[in-house]
Amino acid sequence: MSQKVSLIRGDGIGPEIVEATVRVLDGLDAGLEWEEVRAGSGAFNDLGTPLPEETLLSIGRNKVALKGPLETPIGTGFRSINVAIRKHFDMYANVRPAKIMPGVNTRYSDTGVDLVTVRENTEGAYSGIEHTIPPNRAAAETIILCTRWACERIVRYAFDYARRAGREKVTLVHKANILKETNGLFLEVGQSIAREYDDIKFEDVIVDNMCMQMVMRPEQFDVLVTMNLFGDILSDLAAGLIGGLGLTPGANIGKDASMFEAVHGTAPDIAGQGVANPTALLRAASMMLEHLDMVEKARRLDQAIEAVLGRGEVVTGDLGGSATTEEYTDALLAEIESQ
Ligand code: ATP
Repeated sequence: MSQKVSLIRGDGIGPEIVEATVRVLDGLDAGLEWEEVRAGSGAFNDLGTPLPEETLLSIGRNKVALKGPLETPIGTGFRSINVAIRKHFDMYANVRPAKIMPGVNTRYSDTGVDLVTVRENTEGAYSGIEHTIPPNRAAAETIILCTRWACERIVRYAFDYARRAGREKVTLVHKANILKETNGLFLEVGQSIAREYDDIKFEDVIVDNMCMQMVMRPEQFDVLVTMNLFGDILSDLAAGLIGGLGLTPGANIGKDASMFEAVHGTAPDIAGQGVANPTALLRAASMMLEHLDMVEKARRLDQAIEAVLGRGEVVTGDLGGSATTEEYTDALLAEIESQ
């Protein structure tokens, strides 16, 4: 039986990189059936809403979505369509791998950085509980909400992920020395759950030290688990280590539905030119295949990306090459064919 996936082409370079990704997945014979739905600015212009009900129903039915970047039209009542989808489905774990790719030159190319940030996606400093105090915004207050339940599920997710992915260590990042209540609870839960996973090493690191360690010796880290705010920052830091957001995939995992996407935005400056790099979305697609238990297909896709990038002959402009999106996609398909 084929697996149905909700497909959102998105805005800006979205349709170009989604098309490339669909071609490659079809070339892998992954047996996926695409259910196309709309979201973002394009949907707003054509349908009058940036997030049609049908899109939510489709993701709810299929439980898996692959999504191009979305632009959130101004004045629609949404802060971000991406966030609205994540919230609707309680996608609590944001998972971002950062791995040095062959052929991509960064300051860290020789270090073999290969780490995964698991970020709590629903509460912490981003719970949205905030207000200002009059007169004249004399003060403002944002509440860091931290429930034992949400701490437990994110830490467990990180350990289960580590186990599944054959990884050795989970590093819990926090600021429990200052934020004694919220971060203290997160740390306490982490330490307690770590005892259930004696096959995985565990350590905790205070976030300021973590920033320094990631810049100085990022190769010492494997899986990171952290709360919303620190996860937001550290996952961008990690993306910087491997050459930027353009190569970085992201998964939003929930109990009822999960969504796979590129971390970068709609890149309006190059949209419609056929030169966008689809690698981040392709790597997100590889995470999706893994999520669907198609591990062998995921490995083949990773291997093809690494081979083509490693040779450096057919790469897109952002990586210093001159290939179009289509030429790069053709090279990946040829590589898959030859496997
Ligand atoms: P948005 O408002 O949607 O976040 P943005 O332009 O502010 O868009 P990005 O879309 O992340 O942010 O783009 C930042 C820069 O990186 C742009 O110059 C863009 O062209 C480039 N870029 C982003 N993604 C890609 C990609 N997949 N391929 C090539 N260049 C990219």
